[in-house]
Amino acid sequence: MQSADQRFKMKWWGWGSEQIRKELPHSSTTRDYLRKRLGVEQFEPRHEFQIESLRLPESRADQALLGSLAAIVGADNCRTDRRERVLHSIGKSYKDLVRIRQLALVRATDAVVYPRSEAEVVAVLSRCREARAAVVPFGGGTSVVGGIEPEAGEQRVVVTLDLAFLNRVLAIDEVSQTVTVEAGIFGPELESHLSQRGLTLGHYPQSFEFSTLGGWIATRSSGQNSLAYGGIEKLVESLRVVTPEGTIETLHVPRRADGPDVGQMLIGSEGVYGVIVSATVRVRRAPAERDYFMYAFQDFPTGVAAARELIQSGAAPALVRVADEEETAASLAMGSRGGGSGIRSTGRRLLRKTIEWRLERRGIRPQSMATLLVGLEGTHDENARQRRLVREQLRHADCVYLGRTLGMRWLTTRFDLPYLRDELLDNHLLVDTLETATTWARLAELYAAVRGAIEQAAAAEGEPIIVFTHVSHLYRDGASLYFSLLGRQKRSDPLGQWRAIKRAAGDAIRAHGAVISHHHGVGQDHREQTGRMPIEHKMLAQLKQTLDPAGIMNPGKLL
Ligand SMILES: Cc1cc2nc3c(=O)[nH]c(=O)nc-3n(C[C@H](O)[C@H](O)[C@H](O)COP(=O)(O)OP(=O)(O)OC[C@H]3O[C@@H](n4cnc5c(N)ncnc54)[C@H](O)[C@@H]3O)c2cc1C
Repeated sequence: MQSADQRFKMKWWGWGSEQIRKELPHSSTTRDYLRKRLGVEQFEPRHEFQIESLRLPESRADQALLGSLAAIVGADNCRTDRRERVLHSIGKSYKDLVRIRQLALVRATDAVVYPRSEAEVVAVLSRCREARAAVVPFGGGTSVVGGIEPEAGEQRVVVTLDLAFLNRVLAIDEVSQTVTVEAGIFGPELESHLSQRGLTLGHYPQSFEFSTLGGWIATRSSGQNSLAYGGIEKLVESLRVVTPEGTIETLHVPRRADGPDVGQMLIGSEGVYGVIVSATVRVRRAPAERDYFMYAFQDFPTGVAAARELIQSGAAPALVRVADEEETAASLAMGSRGGGSGIRSTGRRLLRKTIEWRLERRGIRPQSMATLLVGLEGTHDENARQRRLVREQLRHADCVYLGRTLGMRWLTTRFDLPYLRDELLDNHLLVDTLETATTWARLAELYAAVRGAIEQAAAAEGEPIIVFTHVSHLYRDGASLYFSLLGRQKRSDPLGQWRAIKRAAGDAIRAHGAVISHHHGVGQDHREQTGRMPIEHKMLAQLKQTLDPAGIMNPGKLL
């Protein structure tokens, strides 16, 4: 088989490729933190998982269907082996990881096909329609909302269509600064092609290493540097989608006013209308320099206010991120390999001698401070100008400059956190994230409400939880709130505990007029809580009826 199909495949039971395991620092600080806050007395030994032990329902795909799919994609690219079916049957959310560790899948995909061209995608959809089989488009499988697993109770045969072979760069237009690329390309592959021309897309979700362009578009994803580059909806100029009723290619134009934008209606469509086979994306010159630095604030509200004023002042950083007191404390306790400040690994000495006296002078307590991370990406001169603007703006804020070391460390370790989930799960901890967005005026209230709802639901389940929050993806009018949950797992019913907490958080989000997801999408998990008006739902459902009248495309997601 071509190498592309396996290169970015992850462990079937966790994050990252089979060869890579990353661990929490087993330091006394980490141990103390986990013991005091969650009652973890000692680290459990690594769990080892055998795929043979996993209970998997038999494939329902019959030989007639498999034979015809194999005739389309080639026998090697039509798979029903255990490993392929497991890898393609479940995403990478906490709920998914708990279920896979229970070593039983109730419903699994029946066959996995790897088309090698758009023509093969068309043929696979046509064959599946004829056979009344459901089709699940698959990029990297990093969905955290149940986007790629067969719907519970699905009676039809389910065929997963993995786009890993559709990973070619089709055209580079350096004049217009656009690149046309097949949708199955993974983040590192895409950026590696672009960097050879000195270009970048600049789209870096935390799942960057294992997610694809098609997945980003299908989920309306947002990268960590969305402040500079925009969410994926801003980066797509045009896209090509194979639907069961025909292929759509939108115009290659910078903007259009010929009615509602059909391309935008397909961004975020989660595979329910068709398969995104390629897209033309807006690229730009890769930044010559990256400069990330950090500030400490007395508390989260002061940090958030400073971040808002910074954005509204006209400064243009690539990233601004405010971590609340809990997230900063966790980052201090659990080392640098996370989304927060990573102060521990730069050495307590540095903190003590250089920074502590400055914090003290401002009345900021390291144990309960918030942090503001600023990232600049551009030429040397652009960054120098932005640095001045940021410093000027923050000079009047009640904060302490913590320096570049922590900021640059965040940058170099920013994809590490997901690897650590596996060890936290080994230690019977609940570790999940959820996110939303609202306006600045409503942000403080939403923050309190969601945290309160999670804490209350966790208490009702009888287990302790810590809720960390950061503000990221900032806009002039508002921002995204990102909550990370670390709690003790209710061993008798971990999924019931998760469901209760997730529902409470979603209800609080909806009650405050905020959106159920800023960038993770709807999938199966958020379907009941989108808060769409009935007429909005009807519009989306009728579009599905038009593009996929037989209802074969990714059933049970989005709608
Ligand atoms: C640890 C972790 C960190 C994450 N961080 C971020 C983040 O920072 N920002 C963010 O936005 N998201 C993030 N996510 C969520 C996830 O990575 C994104 O939703 C990502 O865009 C999914 O891409 P994928 O290629 O893995 O798609 P998949 O998971 O394979 O698919 C996702 C959905 O899109 C559909 N789909 C995939 N490819 C196509 C296609 N070519 N045509 C039609 N439909 C398709 C699938 O059917 C499914 O419904 C994170 C997830 C994890 C596990």
